[in-house]
Amino acid sequence: MTKLRLAIVGAGPAGIYAADILLKAERNFDVSIDLFDQLPAPYGLVRYGVAPDHPRIKGIITALRDVLDRGDIRVFGNVRFGIDLTLEDLKKHYNAVIFATGAVHDADLDIPGIDLTGSYGAARFVSWFDGHPDVPRTWPLDAREVAVIGNGNVALDVARMLAKHADDLLSTEIPANVYEGLKASPVTDVHVFGRRGPTSVKFTPLELRELGDLPDVDIVVYDEDFDYDDAARDAVASNKQVFVIDKVLNKWRERPAGAASRRLHLHFFAKPLEIVDDGTGRVGAIRYERTTPNGQGGVVGTGEIRELPIQAVYRAVGYFGSPLPGVPFDKKRGVIPNREGQVLWKGDPSFGSKGGNTQMYGVYATGWIKRGPVGLIGHTKSDAMETVRHLINDLGNWWRPQSSSEQSIVDLLDERGVRYTNLDGWHRLDQHELALGADAGRTRVKVVPRDEMVTISRGES
Ligand SMILES: Cc1cc2nc3c(=O)[nH]c(=O)nc-3n(C[C@H](O)[C@H](O)[C@H](O)COP(=O)(O)OP(=O)(O)OC[C@H]3O[C@@H](n4cnc5c(N)ncnc54)[C@H](O)[C@@H]3O)c2cc1C
Repeated sequence: MTKLRLAIVGAGPAGIYAADILLKAERNFDVSIDLFDQLPAPYGLVRYGVAPDHPRIKGIITALRDVLDRGDIRVFGNVRFGIDLTLEDLKKHYNAVIFATGAVHDADLDIPGIDLTGSYGAARFVSWFDGHPDVPRTWPLDAREVAVIGNGNVALDVARMLAKHADDLLSTEIPANVYEGLKASPVTDVHVFGRRGPTSVKFTPLELRELGDLPDVDIVVYDEDFDYDDAARDAVASNKQVFVIDKVLNKWRERPAGAASRRLHLHFFAKPLEIVDDGTGRVGAIRYERTTPNGQGGVVGTGEIRELPIQAVYRAVGYFGSPLPGVPFDKKRGVIPNREGQVLWKGDPSFGSKGGNTQMYGVYATGWIKRGPVGLIGHTKSDAMETVRHLINDLGNWWRPQSSSEQSIVDLLDERGVRYTNLDGWHRLDQHELALGADAGRTRVKVVPRDEMVTISRGES
């Protein structure tokens, strides 16, 4: 019987779902899957993106873990595609590869002053508070007034984590360095800025509502932002999600504010124009323009410019994928160009610009690197179904590897001295983190330094 030796690069939800779906799919060939991740721990942004105070969402890890624990997928952690393994290596050892490398970097925001000291990307901050091994251990939380630019759930996560008292996070899995950093934060006011009105936000109602329950944090909304036009009123009447968001915000308008030691302000119709230098190269203020509805659901500037003193700013305007060596990349969208998961390239360069997009046989994409950084964890499942369907149907066009034995890739990694980890190693690390948690009266305490994660996983300590 034909056998598909498949490499999947990226052990986030997209990679794990793709493996699971393929193993369960109706097919007339055997399958053997190796799942690679650059991190020593699997689960991608579920472990390193979803906020620590969202245990229900973090709980999706249990379902992903069940897939890995079945034992029919080999896991190789701490293996970086592009450094430890190349596309040429994969071609020699596998019939095909699925890239599920996600999007981990901040999208740019092109306004003056965005590079000043005290200006940060949300993704880096998220990585820090979620204990990602590749960001510095300390974070400069020295601002009293902070701006967060963006009106999506990541902006809310960042604003909430900044405004929340550290002791209210003690029940979560935050690493010790994060607790200490947040505990020392002098923050009093967090200002969230959205260019459009309350009925155009990308928050989900649940995330928004949660803000209202933060102990000792007042939510401040401004009456001037609720002068709706017809388009906004229609949105409230016709869209259940907008209806709930509008209801939550209007309730807060009636709530007395002022008693809490911290405040979280929501500014709508406020378009950031510039981050103002305080004279020493640091963030000193945010300058923004008041906008107004344009009658078609969008906004236009009013020319009214305002300024608010801040000492730090976080841009939460989206994530962006990273190029992988040897793999086509769409620089505008930050994705691997593809047709329903089949990776496309420009074809034979001798065809010049006429080459057009042709399928790059044996190469597939799924998840955020396929579709862009939008959508929830559940969406990566339908993504994976589509990609896997093509992989199965493309049987005649798979690569024909030189050495497809399961041992050959292990030998290659060993030859190169790669300190890879495996599923047993992840279990060891997992148990270690749970034990650290138990000692501290918490569920889990994450291990942060990469070396320590690898040493524990490989049983070298
Ligand atoms: C801050 C934040 C909060 C979120 N909160 C929620 C939420 O509450 N609920 C929800 O449903 N969704 C949430 N999401 C969305 C969710 O995280 C994504 O939909 C999902 O993680 C995308 O899955 P993915 O597998 O495509 O990418 P990822 O989860 O990013 O996984 C990609 C994996 O590829 C690995 N990788 C990357 N490059 C390489 C390489 N060169 N070599 C080897 N491995 C590599 C990475 O280490 C990573 O493990 C959130 C996202 C963010 C950013």
